[in-house]
Amino acid sequence: MKSKLVIGNWKMNLTFEEADDLLNALQEGLADYNLQTEVVVCPPYPYLELATDLAEESNFYAGAQNCSQFNNGAYTGEVSAPMLSALGVEFCIVGHSERRKYFNESNEVIAQKVDRLMEQQLIPVVCCGETLEERKADKHFEVVEKQIKETLFHLKKEDFEHVVIAYEPVWAIGTGETATPAQAVEMHKFIRSLVEKKYGTEIAYNTYILYGGSCNAKNAIDLFANEDIDGGLIGGASLKSGDFITIIEAAETTTKEN
Ligand code: PEP
Repeated sequence: MKSKLVIGNWKMNLTFEEADDLLNALQEGLADYNLQTEVVVCPPYPYLELATDLAEESNFYAGAQNCSQFNNGAYTGEVSAPMLSALGVEFCIVGHSERRKYFNESNEVIAQKVDRLMEQQLIPVVCCGETLEERKADKHFEVVEKQIKETLFHLKKEDFEHVVIAYEPVWAIGTGETATPAQAVEMHKFIRSLVEKKYGTEIAYNTYILYGGSCNAKNAIDLFANEDIDGGLIGGASLKSGDFITIIEAAETTTKEN
């Protein structure tokens, strides 16, 4: 029985006060659970210390939404993996489609970010996924394969073991349009087969492949019920403690059933 992983990506949302309230609501709301599911909360940088402080005595870990491909130096506005590590951050999302789209992040840069995180023993949550045009043109497998190979397959086996992959079809992110469980499972199986070819069966089984894209309190259970879906990367629905906890409950229930 493999436990699930649920990660909340707050993106650039909430005031300091709202962030504090949400973190406290999560701490309280999750306190009574004997969770098998691993939970990660990824607030914006200015709220990270709130999260790392609270995470120490809570049922969740703190994660960042991005990091620099450099460790230090004249890179105005950037935040490095060593800085995140010093704060007590344990996970970091990289290669989110919003970063690829609005900040022109390439697979090459994402691979460098993965390396910087690995050097700090931070867990990279590496996003991949096709646009609607790519899916319509039947290029979704090709696109995802290239993203996975170019961002991750330079890693040695012992490093790859610590990576989390999030499949997030771009057409499903923040749109309210979720991939069907069948569409998600098809892609997750494909990604796992790529991992298996490169790193072997055991690592392929152990690798966490999350689904992201309008996953919410209502549809999480149908997605997580599939053994190839190891949990979710949750955007909008992670901003309300009640919805996020319902998603975590769906992960718990489906772990027991799988
Ligand atoms: C995300 O930002 O990673 C995401 C999946 O967003 P949403 O759940 O809002 O679609």
